[in-house]
Amino acid sequence: MSELLFGTAGTPHSAESPSSVDGIKHVAELGLGCMELEFVRQAKMSEATAHLVAETAASTGIKLSAHAPYYINLNAREPDKVQASQYRLLQTARIASWCGATSVVFHTAFYLGDPPENVYSTVKKYLGEVLDQLQEENIRVWIRPEVMGKHTEFGTIEEIIKLSTELKGVAPCIDFAHWHARTGQYNSYQEFTSILQQIEDQLGRAALDDMHIHFSGIRYGLKGEIKHLDLEESDLHYTEFLKALRDYEVKGLVICESPNLEDDALLLQSTYQKLQKAD
Ligand SMILES: [Zn+2]
Repeated sequence: MSELLFGTAGTPHSAESPSSVDGIKHVAELGLGCMELEFVRQAKMSEATAHLVAETAASTGIKLSAHAPYYINLNAREPDKVQASQYRLLQTARIASWCGATSVVFHTAFYLGDPPENVYSTVKKYLGEVLDQLQEENIRVWIRPEVMGKHTEFGTIEEIIKLSTELKGVAPCIDFAHWHARTGQYNSYQEFTSILQQIEDQLGRAALDDMHIHFSGIRYGLKGEIKHLDLEESDLHYTEFLKALRDYEVKGLVICESPNLEDDALLLQSTYQKLQKAD
């Protein structure tokens, strides 16, 4: 990636219709740079529609990613639930590649009371099988496990970076709001840069040149994330976050998951642009 792009998690509210094609067109009209296709309920789209999505993205210059269904748990007790999870991830990757999306984000697993290191091994094994299948089908998209906001969910920064170092084709989706909600910390310039430094140290400069970031306001409690909020209603220091991205010259996609979607995406983008001019 040659720059840092800002965009929405799904079709902006102010688009003509909720369709992905109208979403991409409207993201372009708003002057944003990217959009995440949300397959969070099911991974379903015809190949013909997907090609229309790809054409629209190419003609408007909008970069795409895709989010797999929420109903994935690679640490499920029942083998059929693991298989169904693998299938949902695979199917999202297939659709993403038809759409010309370069990354697939997904929620990896729940600990279900298991020791985190055991869950890590289980996740690595089943995710490895998905990656093998993708390679067999010659599907080239980044598979990005997401940093999660609740203590019951697999997906600390360390776990996600470790998976990315150990599995080819895996890269992190860093959700800074989730991490703040999970830890009650990581809301200052220094803490934001410490995460970026950790990524550079363990995954190399190339990872910072092609980052996938989720950001939003967030409400949280003792168990972590409660719900996403608009930035102005939340305590997140988004200007400090953007300064950290600027100073580390991070490139890639920043997907805004605030309830107001495009409003906060535009706020983040304009704040970032002002910071760059202040250089
Ligand atoms: Zn997510």
